[in-house]
Amino acid sequence: MESLLNIPSFYLWILLLLVLVLRYVLVAGIPYLWLYVFGKNKYKDLKLQNELPEKKQILKEMKYSLITLCIYSSGIWLFLYWLKQGYTRNYTEINEFGWPYFMFSIVLMIIVHDAYSYWIHRLIHHKSLFKYVHLLHHKFKNPSPWSAFAFHPFESLLTLGIIPVVMFLIPWHNLALIVFITIIIAYDTFVHLGYNIKQLKVFKWQNTPKDHDVHHRNSKYNFGLYFTCWDRLMGTYSTSNP
Ligand SMILES: [Zn+2]
Ligand SMILES: [Zn+2]
Repeated sequence: MESLLNIPSFYLWILLLLVLVLRYVLVAGIPYLWLYVFGKNKYKDLKLQNELPEKKQILKEMKYSLITLCIYSSGIWLFLYWLKQGYTRNYTEINEFGWPYFMFSIVLMIIVHDAYSYWIHRLIHHKSLFKYVHLLHHKFKNPSPWSAFAFHPFESLLTLGIIPVVMFLIPWHNLALIVFITIIIAYDTFVHLGYNIKQLKVFKWQNTPKDHDVHHRNSKYNFGLYFTCWDRLMGTYSTSNP
C-alpha cells in the first residue's frame, strides 16, 4: 500500500476516488437492481415501507454520497501518508502475529467500530449538533441502498474517524484493514436495504434493515450499526415502528 504514495498526490486522490465510486456503485447498485427494479413485485411483501423511494430522493442520496466519497479519498490519502511515515501500528508479515490474530484483529475492529458508531451516533443526535451534522441523513426517511453514505460532510468526517482509531489502536495487517473496510461498506448498505430479509439475520443481537428502518422513522431508537447490544444495554432498542 505504501508504494501507492509514489503516485503524484492529485492522481492518487483521483484513483482512490474512482475505486470508492466503483465500489459504491457495485455495492449499492446490485441490491438496488435486485430489490427495487427486477424484484420490485416479487419482494413487495418484504418492503419495510409501502412506498418505493422517489427518484428525487435517490439522486439526492447519490449526490451526498459522492461528496462523502471525495472526503473519504482525501482521508485515505492522509492515512497512506501516516502509514509511509510509520506512525501507525501496521505490520507487514502475517506470520509476525499469526493467522488467529489476523482473524481476531478483524473481529476486534468490528467490535471497536460498533461502539464508536453507537456513541458517535448518539452524540450527533444531541439537539445542539443534530441540525448541523445528522439531519441530512434523516431526511431520507425511506432508506435505500444508495443512502448508506448520504451524509453531511461533517458526518462523513466523523464516520471516517474510525479508520485512524483502528490504525493507531490495533496492530493491523493491510489485508485485515481492507477486509474491515469492505465489511463496513457492505454492512452499512445492508442496514439501509429497506427490505426485511429474514435469511440475512443470523443471530439475535444483529442489527438489521428492519431495526435501522425504525431509526429512520423514529430517531429515538436503534443507533447501532452491526449489533443491537449497545441499544439494548442503554435502553434505546425498539422493534416497533411509530
Ligand atoms: Zn441510516
Ligand atoms: Zn440517526
